[in-house]
Order: sequence, then structure tokens, then C-alpha cells
Amino acid sequence: MKGVKNLPLQKYTIFKTNMFKKGTKAYSIFNNKCPKCHEGDFFKHRFSYHPNKVIATHDNCPTCNFKYMIEPSFFYGAMYVSYAITVALFVAVFIIAKVLMGLDILESFAAILLAAVILMPLNMRLSRILWINIFVSFDKNRLKDTTN
Ligand SMILES: [Zn+2]
Repeated sequence: MKGVKNLPLQKYTIFKTNMFKKGTKAYSIFNNKCPKCHEGDFFKHRFSYHPNKVIATHDNCPTCNFKYMIEPSFFYGAMYVSYAITVALFVAVFIIAKVLMGLDILESFAAILLAAVILMPLNMRLSRILWINIFVSFDKNRLKDTTN
């Protein structure tokens, strides 16, 4: 797409490590790491559109053994986050399509639908990692404590 510059990967990596330092919630959210120790992976797989892989989550943190399912049905609450993301997405796409690109109502709604479908897996993952980060904070002593 024109106007969108691709940052070299190295530059991007430096940007990421500076902006989202380990210990911040952003680090856990954008690197899909355990909210407790920021070391272990949260999801079993990298981002994909495979329906069985997209939100497959480890039961416990592979590094610090923190139980991700804090209480039964914990991740149902992620639906609230997902809803908020969806509404924000709808508004953003609508403004881009209708106001900036001058599409008519029907075309704008088609664009919203398309964006929602394409970004659904991302939304599902983001809402889960955001949800757990609301309740769980980084513990720098976590990995020192778990000796068993
Ligand atoms: Zn962990």
C-alpha cells in the first residue's frame, strides 16, 4: 500500500524493546507472554488463522507454572474486551470508509464487515491477553520463588 513505509525489522525490534520494556503490561500484551513472569508464552501457537490454533492457550505458564485459567470460565470475560475492540474497530473503519474515502453507507458497512472478519482472530487473541493482564501483574520475583 502506498504511504505505508515498512520499517526495517531491526529498527522495529529496537522500537519494540524500548517502548514495551519487560515488566510493563504492554510487554506481556504485545509479545503474548505470561502476565506474571513475562517469560513463558501465553498462546500455544504463533498467530494463525487456523480455527483450532488461534486461541489455544497453555493451561499453565511453561516457564513459571502460573495457572492462566485463574477461575473456571475465566476467559468468558474476555468477551467484554472483545466487544470493546469490535466497537472501536467499527467506528474507526466507518470513519475511514465514509468520511476519508467517501464511500456510501452500504460500501462502508461492507468494509466494516470485511475488517471484522479479517481481524477476528487478532481480536480474539488480543482480548484474552488484555483480559488476563487486567487481573494479573508482573512479579519480578516470580521466577526466583518457584523452585519446586
Ligand atoms: Zn509465567
